[in-house]
Amino acid sequence: MDALSLQLPNAVYRTDPMGESIIVLPATCPRGEHSFQQVGCQTRTAGDDLLRVTCGACGDEWTLRLTHGMPKRAELDDEPYPPAS
Ligand SMILES: [Zn+2]
Repeated sequence: MDALSLQLPNAVYRTDPMGESIIVLPATCPRGEHSFQQVGCQTRTAGDDLLRVTCGACGDEWTLRLTHGMPKRAELDDEPYPPAS
């Protein structure tokens, strides 16, 4: 693992009442300008343990470290991912 990876935010996971893992994705692009619920976002994995979340409006990306792999389900929540200032 290189120094850059160490600085990336870890993806946040939740477990639903059935025990299924859900990944929590940011709900707002890194610029803080676009709501993914309104403009959409694309997700793609990079390597074994990185996930890129691309804003559907401006193309700015979050890069998250996947500490527990990529679950089938995802939800959007800004709370674990404060926008960069
Ligand atoms: Zn954006």
